Amino acid sequence: MTASTGAVETTKVNLLGLTQPQMESFFDSIGEKRFRAGQVMKWIHHFGVDDFDAMSNVSKVLREKLKACAEIRGPEVVSQDISTDGTRKWVVRVASGSCVETVYIPQGGRGTLCVSSQAGCALDCSFCSTGKQGFISDLTAEVIGQVWIANKSFGSIPAKVDRAVTNVVMMGMGEPLLNFDNVVAAMSIMMDDLGYGISKRKVTLSTSGVVPMIDKLGEVLDVSLALSLHAPNDELRNQLVPINKKYPLEMLLAACRRYVSRLGEKRVLTVEYTLLKDVNDQPEHAEEMIALLADFPCKINLIPFNPFPFSGYERPSNNAIRRFQDLLYKAGHNVTVRTTRGEDIDAACGQLVGQVMDRTRRSERYIAVRELSAEAEEPQTATNRI
Ligand code: SF4
Repeated sequence: MTASTGAVETTKVNLLGLTQPQMESFFDSIGEKRFRAGQVMKWIHHFGVDDFDAMSNVSKVLREKLKACAEIRGPEVVSQDISTDGTRKWVVRVASGSCVETVYIPQGGRGTLCVSSQAGCALDCSFCSTGKQGFISDLTAEVIGQVWIANKSFGSIPAKVDRAVTNVVMMGMGEPLLNFDNVVAAMSIMMDDLGYGISKRKVTLSTSGVVPMIDKLGEVLDVSLALSLHAPNDELRNQLVPINKKYPLEMLLAACRRYVSRLGEKRVLTVEYTLLKDVNDQPEHAEEMIALLADFPCKINLIPFNPFPFSGYERPSNNAIRRFQDLLYKAGHNVTVRTTRGEDIDAACGQLVGQVMDRTRRSERYIAVRELSAEAEEPQTATNRI
């Protein structure tokens, strides 16, 4: 362990993050048969094993060889909380020493895992608690490691792990398209039968709009796509989602259209829209959104803002939420309002913060600003500081 970050330093190959072709190349590189890749992947992902000695169909000689040059290492679980509604949240420590969060949401027969792709985020969306922390690192095998940890927590090892995770959404901390190679590898393992065997329809990447990477994603994978829209015009979106200044709405929607048209099979874009009181929740915003998405097959997911300290935003009233939803619905859209889950364990949408070791100093600036505002607004007591 390093003293400064708590990260593990090792030169061994971490097999956890290898896709099937990468695993086959690894076995080639150590002079072993490629079919070993499938055996080892099943042990890792179907059975949640991290100990080569548990791999009973692998010879003792090969197990010793693997121990010398490889490892199966997921992120360290710092804590696991379970909400009264069954939602689970893990805080995991990644190689940079920062902590990120993963959330599991059970609903009916489904178990949806919200996975983080980066420690912090560089994109600084104005309403997002992760964005306030700045960016520290891309996750590596730690992306698939979150699925591995979640599934393991529902099964007894080494008995076959229950497939508790039926759906994955890359909607946790970070912008997944800015950690492209690691995210693509992880999503490939999620869909691989030697991995988690999740249908491509049930693996969703959510982006705030990194246009060139949407096209690049379409060249290599056919996962479902969600767009974090949050504003119906460029002027407002420039304020809420600053990457919009680089890739404005017309360009962004064209890229989403290209991506979805490749998927076929009646698959549509999911549009996410965080409702912020008096900012983007007014009838005129709904009308603009209707015009913007007029001929775009999509389903719309409205997310009432989940406040966090000093965010500067408020959650709209239930009436305002219903009014917005009704306007979209009457215009023919498939629109749902996301129910808040896991609020008692701070696992609700937009509340994931982890514990990022911020080199960009954005979090420092944010904390300084919010403390100044707090001092200006109210007399300080021991309990009103965060
Ligand atoms: S909303 Fe997503 S892209 Fe924007 S700052 Fe937060 S994590 Fe980053």
